[in-house]
Amino acid sequence: EAKDQGKSRYAFYKTELTDKAEYQLQLELYLRESIQQQQLSLIYQPKMDIQTGHLVGVEALLRWQHPQLGEVAPSDFIRVAENIGMIKSLTEWVIQTVCNQLASWKQQGLAPIQAAINVHPNHFLDQDLISSLESSLNDTGISPAELELEVTETVVQTNIENLSAFQRLKALGISLAIDDFGSGYSSFASLKHMNIDVLKIDKHFIDDILNDRKAQLLVGSMIEMGHNLGYKIVAEGIETPEQHELLKELNCDLGQGYLFSEPVVASEISRLFSR
Ligand code: C2E
Ligand code: MG
Ligand code: MG
Ligand code: MG
Repeated sequence: EAKDQGKSRYAFYKTELTDKAEYQLQLELYLRESIQQQQLSLIYQPKMDIQTGHLVGVEALLRWQHPQLGEVAPSDFIRVAENIGMIKSLTEWVIQTVCNQLASWKQQGLAPIQAAINVHPNHFLDQDLISSLESSLNDTGISPAELELEVTETVVQTNIENLSAFQRLKALGISLAIDDFGSGYSSFASLKHMNIDVLKIDKHFIDDILNDRKAQLLVGSMIEMGHNLGYKIVAEGIETPEQHELLKELNCDLGQGYLFSEPVVASEISRLFSR
């Protein structure tokens, strides 16, 4: 009987909803123990100088591999972490791991590599974040200039009043980047309130840059505006040599994307940088 009912639309949706809710609960439950169970890892995507083709740094990207669930996408579990109040401990883990990794690369004799860390907008101006940055830098002897924080534009809107926390973060000497620039809702005007170092142009613009004249003009304008404001410009998600060539002509500074490399494990970064 239950089998027959399973064919009805109602039962179908009900099952699907229950499955979704159950999956959500599982994510929450399992995520809580992910750090202790050593299921988290970082992979690193190389950042290239667009003009010279030289490797200049990396972006650390979080991965979660669970024995039953398999690999869960960061966009999924970071939302969950935010919901269950775990985003702070996740970020802390990332900061510690990145600083340890930078120290280890140094020990291997590699030239200083700059590493970017993604920070959730709600956590960006938190005093605890600043403290954990300070202690991780202290513990490892990594210089603040070797770290970059990436935060999406929404922070410009939501925390614009929290300028003192921003100044304190800035005073640490860490480089600050606006991630996914152009995809959010903030206006160019809000940029004037923040003393940032880097703009990362959202992949969607780069996807369209060859076929869409407007996208091309917008990217060109963002680069010029960014340069006038003293920012370095990074293009995200470069996948073809043609996109690279065009971005070179448009005077873009840095680029990331599958054309150069997907995110890779730390040992692969050692190999790339020692060549
Ligand atoms: P994001 O910071 O904008 O990172 C770029 C994403 O684009 C990464 O996905 C990267 O693997 C992917 N990507 C890079 N180049 C290409 C390309 O050429 N083509 C395509 N199709 N994709 C490319 P990923 O690793 O799945 O991360 C997704 C998002 O999750 C990140 O976007 C970031 O917002 C968030 N995230 C990842 N790690 C962390 C973390 O440690 N903390 C926080 N708060 N967020 C994180
Ligand atoms: Mg990022
Ligand atoms: Mg991005
Ligand atoms: Mg993006």
